[in-house]
Amino acid sequence: MALSKSVVSPPQLENRIWDPAETMPRDQLRALQIHRLRETVAHAMRVPFYQQAFQKTGITPGAIRTLEDLRRLPFTVKNDLREHYPLGLLAVPRTQIARIHGSTGTTGKPTFVAYTYKDLQTWADLCARFLVAGGLRPEHTVHIAFGYGLFTGGFGLHYGVERVGAAIVPASAGNTSRQIDLIRDLEANVLVGTPSYSLYLADVCQQRGIDPRELPLEYAHFGGEPWTEDMRVEIERELNLAAFNNYGLSEVIGPGVSGECFVRDGMHIQEDHFIVECLDPDTLEPVPEGERGELVITALTKEAMPMIRYRTRDIASLNSAPCPCGRTTIKMSRITGRTDDMFIIRGVNVFPSQIEEALLRVEGTTPHYQIEINRPNALDEVTVRVEIRPQDFSDMMAKMQALKQRIAREIQQVAGIRANVELVDPHTLERFAGKAKRVLDNREKASG
Ligand code: ADP
Ligand code: ZN
Repeated sequence: MALSKSVVSPPQLENRIWDPAETMPRDQLRALQIHRLRETVAHAMRVPFYQQAFQKTGITPGAIRTLEDLRRLPFTVKNDLREHYPLGLLAVPRTQIARIHGSTGTTGKPTFVAYTYKDLQTWADLCARFLVAGGLRPEHTVHIAFGYGLFTGGFGLHYGVERVGAAIVPASAGNTSRQIDLIRDLEANVLVGTPSYSLYLADVCQQRGIDPRELPLEYAHFGGEPWTEDMRVEIERELNLAAFNNYGLSEVIGPGVSGECFVRDGMHIQEDHFIVECLDPDTLEPVPEGERGELVITALTKEAMPMIRYRTRDIASLNSAPCPCGRTTIKMSRITGRTDDMFIIRGVNVFPSQIEEALLRVEGTTPHYQIEINRPNALDEVTVRVEIRPQDFSDMMAKMQALKQRIAREIQQVAGIRANVELVDPHTLERFAGKAKRVLDNREKASG
């Protein structure tokens, strides 16, 4: 069944631009990128890892004349950070470091990233840009539900909001019931966190008999994990706010790489600070515009830890069509998955976001789900567990059976796989204060 859930009309979305650099003419932007790329390569020479890598390919800063020359530079992968654990990729003396963050370690051993004071200023500005693009104004009060700690989300957004001049409630992660009180009592208009956490918040509201739509929230800025357009509809319906997407990763700075404007059709890449390539993850050749590929990011202004052609493993597409907001930067689509969270079921590549999309097409489901993969008889078997909305839960076997079949059909259509569907009671699946972990792949454990 197609989306029949009502779409709320969010607050009148305004077009605001924080920094004139966001609307720079393209030729000027390109010239700036080349200039900064050359400087970045020269700066990266201070890092033995890059010095050796450049020597191998015979590249020197002077050889960078056009943006095409970027393709002659070596890639950087997560493992390079691990091999130089903890801070082997510094390009400045240790004494110039102003802060250290760590990646959350979604995919293995954590890694650290470092910032100079100037890097922190740049970062705050980049976050301010996307926050303002998404409606943040100095008179707002912002509830930050990202964990404050090594993870870049909390502090990154914190200083971005501060730069804009809005009030901050640094709630951090956990104790959701208290967070609801804070939002209500301190009249927060803006929520910052992961998209999945906002739904959890709505859930806890309902358990306490509070209508989440009555909370004073008007805007939300979400990032840190993949979500779908259908999930946006769901969140906006549940919480009666306008939700914006922003993207970033600790290796290249943290949040602030890109974010949505009021058009909400793709995230503007902050191209004066980052060059983003979209490559076929196997051939490492650029994919045609509009097609999905792995994002590879070069940071153009980082001092402490230059990052050249970082393979993000995030899958998205690029779009250079002019945007009505007046920004001249290209946009990236939502992240549809990571090359490393993709799972293969009997040869079919599947991303969790596809399962989510299928689930949310069916009336009565919630975005609380879990995907379990087993291989009982040398054949992959997928079980999708999804919570049913309380009002749709029925004692009638036939009704529940029909619902299951509809969900299975949608999964087959969107993801191209057959899945066992289990409907579970509301509020029974695990909730996540940080990034959601939805896939339980038991295949390796069984065979290893
Ligand atoms: P990790 O999760 O790899 O330990 P980070 O905490 O730096 O490291 O998280 C960055 C990752 O989070 C990105 O590479 C991407 O996979 C994911 N991410 C961040 N923002 C978004 C977003 N808006 N949509 C989808 N995924 C996102
Ligand atoms: Zn725009």
